[in-house]
Amino acid sequence: MLIAVRVVVITTLLMAALIIQYTVKEILPINYLYTIAAVTYGLTLFYIVVANFIRSRKINLAVQIAGDLIVETLLVYFTGGLDSPFSFLYLVSIITASMLLFRRGGLFTASGAVMLYGGLADLMYYRVIAMPESSWIVPTLWTSSRLYINMATNFAGYYATALLTSYLSEKLQKTFEELDVNRQHLAALRALNQNVVESIPSGLITLSREGVVSFINPAGCQILRTDPHAVIGHHINELQFFAPPDWESVCDTLATEQVVRREKDDISVGEENRSLGYAVTPLNTLEGVASGYTLIFQDLTDMKKMEAELRLKDRMAAVGELSAGIAHEIRNPLAAIAGSVQVLKKSNALSPPEQRLMTIILKESERLNKSIADFLRFVKPQEKRTTEFDIAASLSETLDLLANSPELRSDHHIERRISPASFIVSGDADQIRQVFWNLARNAVQAMPNGGALRVSTEATADTYRIRFSDSGRGMAEADQRRLFQPFRTNFPSGTGLGMAISYRIVQEHGGQIDVASWPGMGTTITVSLPIHAAQAVVGSQLSVVGAGR
Ligand code: ADP
Ligand code: MG
Repeated sequence: MLIAVRVVVITTLLMAALIIQYTVKEILPINYLYTIAAVTYGLTLFYIVVANFIRSRKINLAVQIAGDLIVETLLVYFTGGLDSPFSFLYLVSIITASMLLFRRGGLFTASGAVMLYGGLADLMYYRVIAMPESSWIVPTLWTSSRLYINMATNFAGYYATALLTSYLSEKLQKTFEELDVNRQHLAALRALNQNVVESIPSGLITLSREGVVSFINPAGCQILRTDPHAVIGHHINELQFFAPPDWESVCDTLATEQVVRREKDDISVGEENRSLGYAVTPLNTLEGVASGYTLIFQDLTDMKKMEAELRLKDRMAAVGELSAGIAHEIRNPLAAIAGSVQVLKKSNALSPPEQRLMTIILKESERLNKSIADFLRFVKPQEKRTTEFDIAASLSETLDLLANSPELRSDHHIERRISPASFIVSGDADQIRQVFWNLARNAVQAMPNGGALRVSTEATADTYRIRFSDSGRGMAEADQRRLFQPFRTNFPSGTGLGMAISYRIVQEHGGQIDVASWPGMGTTITVSLPIHAAQAVVGSQLSVVGAGR
């Protein structure tokens, strides 16, 4: 760049000289300009050679600035030394050096100018070198005081320029560097921010102070099953989190508090209702001015379901434990009573009516004992006896049993869609049969005015599914939620244990029971049992055999 600028300047000068030479009639004494142009072109070639051999920017600059100083000294000499108006040209080199090489370069260049200019003036003053002949400047009288004043002012100017320019350019350089560092920090911070916001599993929405969405992160879009365009620019009231007056009250609360936490169970996402937990916090600018709000939210549906299941399991275990304890407490005194009565009965002192009463006591105690035993069998987790059995046949048999039970009337209709007719799984056959019995009986009991029960099965790669659909009275939402809790019954003569026990059995088999119910329309209970890989193969082979049977 420096080389190019120099060539342009000197070429312009040369052109100007040539034009002047040819337009002005009288011959001007400016031949020295050609010498200087030639020297500069020569030096330029030299600079290019140096630049090709030496990579160092500092050395290249130093060589060029030294060359410039020499050219400037030549110009000053040809234009009359102390009388020359061109001594300011040294300043150009000093400024260049100060800007590119900073203080040290500036001071070196100023010193070079001082030596060259001072030396030239001294040598001319003492006539060691002669005045150039072609000088077109009218020579003035050179007194020693003029020499000193001239030199002193020039030298002071050179050094002052060097110091000032280098100070400014160093400062500028430092500012640039700081700016660069800050820019890098900012970029890093922005990247971090972006990463955090995009990779957190929670949904994040930012809102303006008016409640208009300005941003939503990918997790947020996923939770709400939406995309940014459908949300950004819309008011938060359109997003189901808040009812309109609700949002106002949240804003009011946030004027004094740091966070508002809420949970909402009926946010419809796609086709289903999800439970979302969310927190709203005020968003401030760096200066602490309120600029809007952030809304962070999470889908709690699965967690809540799991929590409810756990709680239910816990409660069932506790109830089981407690009932078993009480049952034992009854059984022991009962055994004592029965034993004593047995002994009394043998006594001869009893009249026949008394004997009969004794027999009643014994018979009733035995009945009570048997009921308690049954109850214990239901409530207390039984040992699971796993065998391979035909679950489809089991289901058919249970339905046969039901068809022949007195509970089933002529206006009850049972539809079977059991295919394949034979399917082998491993599990506790008795317990599974118990589940089928409980579910089928409930369905019939739920249809006091008659109706249809449809039992269907479905086998996928890893699950065997049995569905009991009735057209009975159905259940309200609250009843559905408490369906598996023990001792809750709405059936006359019910105990409220059937579903609880079924739940436990299916759970122990690694399966799942799902309820879908519509009050007044009917209920569908689905039991899903896992088929393990090995059994699936055995099962499907046997089911082919079974189907052909
Ligand atoms: P129980 O049959 O002794 O009442 P369960 O645990 O089997 O106890 O059932 C609990 C309650 O759940 C029933 O009392 C009834 O209110 C309800 N229920 C169960 N199955 C159905 C069904 N298919 N349709 C309507 N309500 C049902
Ligand atoms: Mg029941």
